[in-house]
Amino acid sequence: RESSAQKFQRQHMDPAGSSSNSPTYCNQMMKRRDMTKGSCKPVNTFVHEPLADVQAICSQENVTCKNGKSNCYKSSSALHITDCHLKGNSKYPNCDYKTSQYQKQIIVACEGNPYVPVHFDATV
Ligand code: UDP
Ligand code: UDP
Repeated sequence: RESSAQKFQRQHMDPAGSSSNSPTYCNQMMKRRDMTKGSCKPVNTFVHEPLADVQAICSQENVTCKNGKSNCYKSSSALHITDCHLKGNSKYPNCDYKTSQYQKQIIVACEGNPYVPVHFDATV
């Protein structure tokens, strides 16, 4: 069974990738990473940085999660990310996304031992 840490990596990590010059990045990646099964996941962020750098966020600034839990952490630096937003006229099973690249700080929730990212909370 997929662990929550593995699920985070499947949904949010693409260290070798980039959406540069690729308006179809999100359409391809959301499908390839199984986020268009049963329904189209509305919003999802991919991080283009080494896994170790994203895991290290669990020891950076502690912040409150959107849901009020206290196990969220904000990256001390801006990371290369791609946001995927489902287009309003998209109709399942044809999940059609807008691809947007940014360099932003990210907030993740961490759990477990080892203490690793298990949820993507937000970008700031
Ligand atoms: N999400 C993401 N990037 C964002 C915001 C959300 O990848 O900047 C994903 C993340 O997997 C999160 C899910 O979307 O768990 C739902 O987000 P949120 O809880 O903010 O959505 P809502 O509860 O408002 O639908
Ligand atoms: N989780 C957490 N803090 C939060 C939201 C979620 O620790 O603010 C944990 C939740 O307990 C679960 C895991 O993150 O074990 C994955 O949650 P979810 O599926 O909502 O996250 P997503 O994969 O959509 O980012």
